[in-house]
Amino acid sequence: MTEKSIFSRIIDGEIPSEIVYQDELCFAIKDIAPKAPTHLLLIPKKPIPRLIDAEADDQALLGHLMATAGKVAQAAGIGDAFRLIVNNGAGAGQTVFHLHLHILGNMIMGEDSLGF
Ligand code: 5GP
Repeated sequence: MTEKSIFSRIIDGEIPSEIVYQDELCFAIKDIAPKAPTHLLLIPKKPIPRLIDAEADDQALLGHLMATAGKVAQAAGIGDAFRLIVNNGAGAGQTVFHLHLHILGNMIMGEDSLGF
């Protein structure tokens, strides 16, 4: 059996974390090392390791994550200006191999290395 991800351990209550949103498919927490004044993680309860590992059956879940990201951003007060990031693979900076969307806000946009 593969080892449980840190995010599965959080949702199972094995590691303490403030859960700011939860429904039957996903949950959101504050990032432990925020890279923006508002930095949330939206995580499917199903432990899909990377975005590229999602299968045809996961399409509804992926759509739910996108729709829910907007709701979570709005509830966090950043509904008018937020950014979603998914790191896919270690080469892209992924460190936790359980799919998650970074929701970032309250930061100056347009100043990163890509000019976004
Ligand atoms: P990645 O680098 O995989 O795209 O993002 C993983 C994120 O998870 C990082 O931003 C990191 O700070 C966050 N993280 C790692 N461990 C924990 C934890 O135990 N609690 C919380 N709230 N965030 C975590």
